[in-house]
Amino acid sequence: MPHDTLQRPLTDLRISVTDRCNFRCGYCMPLDNYDWLDKNEVLTFEEIIRIARIFVQLGVEKIRLTGGEPLARRDLDQLIAGLTPLDGLLDICLTTNASTLAEKSHTLKAAGLRRINVSLDSLKPDKFRKITKRGDLGKVLEGLRAAKSTGFNPIKINTVIERGVNDDEILDLVSFSLEHGFAIRFIEFMDVGNSNDWKSTRIVPKAEILRIINSQFPLEEIGRKNGTAPSVDYRCTNGTGDIGVIASVTEPFCSSCTRGRITADGKFVTCLFANTGYNLKVLLRGGISDVGLLEKLRSVWSKRSDRYSEERLVALQSHKGYDPRNRKKIEMISLGG
Ligand code: SAM
Repeated sequence: MPHDTLQRPLTDLRISVTDRCNFRCGYCMPLDNYDWLDKNEVLTFEEIIRIARIFVQLGVEKIRLTGGEPLARRDLDQLIAGLTPLDGLLDICLTTNASTLAEKSHTLKAAGLRRINVSLDSLKPDKFRKITKRGDLGKVLEGLRAAKSTGFNPIKINTVIERGVNDDEILDLVSFSLEHGFAIRFIEFMDVGNSNDWKSTRIVPKAEILRIINSQFPLEEIGRKNGTAPSVDYRCTNGTGDIGVIASVTEPFCSSCTRGRITADGKFVTCLFANTGYNLKVLLRGGISDVGLLEKLRSVWSKRSDRYSEERLVALQSHKGYDPRNRKKIEMISLGG
């Protein structure tokens, strides 16, 4: 298994299966017009499975399918069915906005998917619409219900908390997740991509999120799963609940980041905040052997030195401050969250 220059192994892979999304969340990619990838630029399922197989040979144990909106990719269950038999792969997860999950839940389960993460930032229909621009809360709740009755476990809710937007719903979202047996992860608003008009004043820091939850649901800390997960997890002191906070801005976790990413058009990216990636599609379509590809992946990871969120925190705390516009980043929809 390769380790990077900071001795971090490569154990997790996030694969963006499309850059298309039917939502336009303000914190992610709010633009109506975007230079979308042509269909022939997007990796085929065969190409994704081949890349995944070689990553697994290198030590990847966990794959998350994301996007864009991964359920916008037709026949996603066929990709899952091609990934599940990979020898050494312990876990496949899907991150989705769940707007079409109700109709796909059974085929995804039958293909071998066991875990689902659903993005849900508000339980108020009007606000949900405002945040997503195009989303229908009813459809997402229907998707969550379908996932539960299909037997996905765990089902995890991802909520990006933005000051003045949905910080008033933290307790309602915790109640909702406890009531339905969902895990929930609150995520600090991050400066991903180039279009979300990120300002540090719009973050609700982890400490404040925890203070709000503790006021009604006293928590005890469990910690980071495997020591490397982005989320610090908690449960209620009465033993119930699975609540976590992902504090990329105020408590960066670069030093334990074991995640690589593949963009929808086949670039291997070694940091969520990267401005470039290594083009694997050219190699695949140029006829590279499996051994050649494995060595290339090993070489890219071995040179990795990214620690963007740690550098951002230093800049935020310095007298100069931090301006996200100083670095152009790959958009979250291409990169996958
Ligand atoms: N469309 C899918 C979805 O909605 O879950 C998958 C892609 S989305 C980019 C993946 C995750 O990234 C979501 O959970 C979303 O909340 C998170 N995300 C996007 N922009 C973010 C930001 N600026 N700060 C924190 N999390 C963000």
